[in-house]
Amino acid sequence: MKEIIKLEKTETIETEKDILEVNKKIAEENREIFESYGIRAFDVMGSVGAGKTSLIEKLVGRLKGKYSIAVINGDLTTTIDADIIGKHNVRVVQINTGRECHLEAHMIKKALEKIDLKKTNLLFIENVGNLICPSDFRLGTEKRVVVISVTEGQYVVVKHPLTFLDADIVVINKIDLAEVMGVNLDKLEDEIKNINPNIKTVRTNCRNGTGIEDLIRLLNL
Ligand code: MG
Ligand code: ZN
Repeated sequence: MKEIIKLEKTETIETEKDILEVNKKIAEENREIFESYGIRAFDVMGSVGAGKTSLIEKLVGRLKGKYSIAVINGDLTTTIDADIIGKHNVRVVQINTGRECHLEAHMIKKALEKIDLKKTNLLFIENVGNLICPSDFRLGTEKRVVVISVTEGQYVVVKHPLTFLDADIVVINKIDLAEVMGVNLDKLEDEIKNINPNIKTVRTNCRNGTGIEDLIRLLNL
């Protein structure tokens, strides 16, 4: 017989609640900063390798003529993604979180000190590659975008329901590999909508740019 262990509410969770409360307050402050400077801000979340950097790179490439863009890159230790985005001559601020597996609002607030806010009207934040806890920490952005890749398999959505409950747009990336991965895209979309009927989905191939224009429309950019 199989045994299932369900964790009960503990004091640790209470402490976590406090952290989340503090984060919520700072996220509100960030939102006020964005609004006062007329900056449209988007949080991009997803696993390592889902295509967050490629997506931001494609968006920056298409939008840099129209907007003055800044990018904040969260990463445990490397600057690989920030270096890639930096080639596009936009302001890039790297946040190395060390052991922290998600960005928190206070980190964004600090990063904003390194951006000329008066000269910025569009901000993309690449969260740390992780499909779980970034969703608990709102950063103050207008919308939250989750990037998933068909290479994560058919069950990536049902195994991470909370992430989709709290997001606005889901980008389903690497659709060119769906068949070889045996992933049913319609089913994936149904599962996302079952968790959150208000969520918008878009299918992309960030390598060749398929779907990027659809996403730009969804972001209202
Ligand atoms: Mg990346
Ligand atoms: Zn985390």
